[in-house]
Amino acid sequence: MKDRPASCLDAFEVDAISVDEARQIITNEITPISASETVPVREGLKRYLATDIISPINVPPHTNSAMDGYALAGSDLPTTTPVDYKVSGASFAGVPSTESYQSGTVVRIMTGGVMPTGTDTVIPQELVETLDDNTIRLEAEHKAGQNVRHPGEDLAQGKKIFDKGRKLSAADIGILASLGFGEIDVLIRPKVAFFSTGDELRSIGEALKEGEIYDSNRYTLFAMLKNLDAKIIDLGVIPDTEKDIQDAFKKAAEESDIFISTGGVSVGEADYIKPTLKLLGETHFWKLAMKPGRPLTYGTVHHNNVSAKFFGLPGNPVAVMVTFLQFVQPAINYLASGKQQKPIFLKATSEENIKKRPGRTEYIRGVFEQTPDGGFSVKRTGKQGSGILMSMSLANCFIHFDADSSGVNQGDTVEILPFEGVV
Ligand code: AMP
Ligand code: MG
Repeated sequence: MKDRPASCLDAFEVDAISVDEARQIITNEITPISASETVPVREGLKRYLATDIISPINVPPHTNSAMDGYALAGSDLPTTTPVDYKVSGASFAGVPSTESYQSGTVVRIMTGGVMPTGTDTVIPQELVETLDDNTIRLEAEHKAGQNVRHPGEDLAQGKKIFDKGRKLSAADIGILASLGFGEIDVLIRPKVAFFSTGDELRSIGEALKEGEIYDSNRYTLFAMLKNLDAKIIDLGVIPDTEKDIQDAFKKAAEESDIFISTGGVSVGEADYIKPTLKLLGETHFWKLAMKPGRPLTYGTVHHNNVSAKFFGLPGNPVAVMVTFLQFVQPAINYLASGKQQKPIFLKATSEENIKKRPGRTEYIRGVFEQTPDGGFSVKRTGKQGSGILMSMSLANCFIHFDADSSGVNQGDTVEILPFEGVV
């Protein structure tokens, strides 16, 4: 590797690695978390299961009715002409019938009511003619076995319901409750630290002097980390000096599993990020064939017998978001779950010509919408400079171009990556 900072001026460096290689290196270097903790099931949302879940019971536990109506033995159903039946009892949800079922009669039953022994069929009340309080008439149109839910039909006892490493959704929380779990074992959350570098950065509340800007990267990073349910450690704005950067690296390595810096990795910086990584650990890669986000650094930092993975993100706010979503987020999820995220690409028709130089993967900010034929169309969100955060704010997807692509014409098909929660 050439020990030279990446620059926006040189087009395609030979030592810039591909996006796919970078993803591979990132996961190869990470050992997923195996430590677990027990939490109440309600606290389990978005957490990763530490064990497989085997169903301890049948859900539903009893044969029960799927409708409000009348239960009877299917063999008693009328075959040619209507038949009248005496109503011989009632079974409500949670209050089973106390009388034993007499063949030739029917039992009034409600949805979820336990099927009396000897019955196997429920006729919905809308299909029944009521003759008086105690007598109903059935036509010869019904099939035996209808409208009954069987034990274990939803979840069978002894069956594996969820795999270890599953991220729990709201439905999953409901399923765990229906199995009677009050607590579950989940993997502990990864600790993720971050800091901004740059002498031009001021914190919110401070007055801006000439040439100064507010630090926005720590806010977008915080918001993106919130989505991931990580333990978030904000280390603030670090001045561009060798000592301050080294101290920040040491503190972050001690306190976190993964830490992230923004800024200080492109040409013209007081560039202490790369030398500090070299001094305190190893560099796995530092330059990617992608846009935006080329000077992305990945390494391992050691301090006081502990180590952490490090991502040195560029300073430009859009590059921060793109590199976080494409590399840091999958890395955190892999650390947290041992599972690799597979991005979902959709095909869309480009509403415009988009020029691109071959040689690097590009993530252009786009807005896609559904077309009347059920497909999708997409266009760019105006200016695409990597400092223009509005291009992300207005977007609901990335338009993804492979490294060897040279762009598309209006009407051509492109690949889009919808943002999380958009579809
Ligand atoms: P750098 O990579 O440090 O050269 O930063 C590239 C560009 O991003 C510069 O215009 C910086 O002012 C800007 N920038 C760097 N860090 C931040 C930040 N935390 N918030 C907003 N803009 C930033
Ligand atoms: Mg800087």
